[in-house]
Amino acid sequence: MTRRPSFPARLDNGPAKAAPARPAAQHQPRLHDVPSGHGMDSQAVRARMVQKLAGQGVSDARVLRAMGAVERHRFVDSALVNQAYEDTSLPIGLGQTISKPSVVARMIELLLAGRTGADGRPGRVLEVGTGCGYQAAVLSCVATEVYSVERLRGLHDKARENLRHFRLPNVHLLFGDGMVGFAKGAPYAGIIAAAGGEAIPAAWTEQLAEGGRLVAPMVTATGQQALVVMEKAAGQLRQTLLEAVHFVPLKSGIA
Ligand code: SAH
Repeated sequence: MTRRPSFPARLDNGPAKAAPARPAAQHQPRLHDVPSGHGMDSQAVRARMVQKLAGQGVSDARVLRAMGAVERHRFVDSALVNQAYEDTSLPIGLGQTISKPSVVARMIELLLAGRTGADGRPGRVLEVGTGCGYQAAVLSCVATEVYSVERLRGLHDKARENLRHFRLPNVHLLFGDGMVGFAKGAPYAGIIAAAGGEAIPAAWTEQLAEGGRLVAPMVTATGQQALVVMEKAAGQLRQTLLEAVHFVPLKSGIA
């Protein structure tokens, strides 16, 4: 798999100010390098999290590598840092939650099972529900460009703050109602939603590229949420319903 030379050099490299000097002979940091200094402990904890994800059936190496690279503890409140690598959702403010790692990994694995470029990456991906920005950071490792929309100004700002450290030039944060998608970035090779409504908004399927894949929670006939995968082929949509999930509700408008 080829990697763009400039692709995030700092994803896993500890805080800018506190980073200890690296030995001169050391090569440029890459996504999955073991970081030095402060990041070292979290690297080991993340490696255990990745092992557990693999044990739970996540097998796509691109996903496991991305989950191992992104420092989830940087996206949660300091009081919750010790739970950052547990397989649990955590509050991020304004009544919203960061999704649990196994669900993030599962959904991105489903997304990547669709069509990708020669480099193994889908092109442009739209994420609805930026929240704290964690999943956008994971997506940045596996997709060419990530457009992420959040309807709550407070979380949009928080995500911007959280992501600043990582310097991800391929992540584009947008403030707005993701139910209308983001037409300017369309068509998308992938669309992934972190909030679930009664139906998949028409704008999403319209903005999905031919050969593209959508992965989202949706309330089904039983009244419970389940994961839905939609694929667009020859202009037709094919829908598959998967396991039950628990996401925050998809809401319209901004706040
Ligand atoms: N991917 C996020 C998960 C956040 S929870 C993370 O990694 O932290 C889901 C988010 O979806 C919430 O922040 C909620 O405000 C947002 N959301 C709900 N409806 C939305 C809509 N119509 N447009 C954009 N964001 C929405």
